[in-house]
Amino acid sequence: MKSWPIDLRPVATPEGFPGRVTFVKSAAHIKDAPSSLLPEVAVCGRSNVGKSSMLNTLCNRRQMARVSSTPGRTRLINFFDIQEKLMFVDLPGFGFARGPLHEKEEWGETIQAYLRDRPQLALTLLLVDARRLPEKSEQELLLWFRHAERPCLAVMTKADKIKNSELEHRRRKTAELLFMPHSDVIAFSSLSRAGREPLWGGILAACGITAEDIVEKVK
Ligand code: GDP
Repeated sequence: MKSWPIDLRPVATPEGFPGRVTFVKSAAHIKDAPSSLLPEVAVCGRSNVGKSSMLNTLCNRRQMARVSSTPGRTRLINFFDIQEKLMFVDLPGFGFARGPLHEKEEWGETIQAYLRDRPQLALTLLLVDARRLPEKSEQELLLWFRHAERPCLAVMTKADKIKNSELEHRRRKTAELLFMPHSDVIAFSSLSRAGREPLWGGILAACGITAEDIVEKVK
């Protein structure tokens, strides 16, 4: 596993990339997570931020993350194995409710337990809708990760909804509010697929693997 700074150079994604995507399980608590030691990339953000769409776009699947939005599963932690080399961990959305993170008790406990108990957490992606700026709960979350010395990237979702001329300004502002270098904020669109290669670059670098490692080998 790599620590800061993460190399965000875009990667070329070969045909058949990424290979097998397997839903492993849903867990109510981190203590019920799979026993796997694969590097994990956790994904979090408010409900409706575009989390399922981003996972589907990253993995070239139409409905990979559908499981996460089926009733009863939205409050669970969903684990997806990618070619037995890394795990995407879809964390529950933190709701529409405003207010500080420590008041969202259950959600906060999940994150704290994750940071405390799962050393294989290689990277966290914090998704923020490109049309909004990060709020207090997102700022607070970033501080938790910083305090635990765990790498985190911000993904500005639905970037297609913002004029190109405005995007750079928003990226800088988002970075400033999240106390991160602006290079750690990636503008992403599931519609245009913009941002997919740099984001994969960061994910692979954080997990210490290459694009070739997760191509399905034809026997
Ligand atoms: P989740 O609740 O965070 O998993 O969000 P979804 O992926 O289900 O997306 C919520 C809504 O935003 C859906 O109506 C999507 O079609 C829309 N959406 C998601 N990503 C994008 C994007 O990149 N561009 C645009 N224009 N719409 C998006």
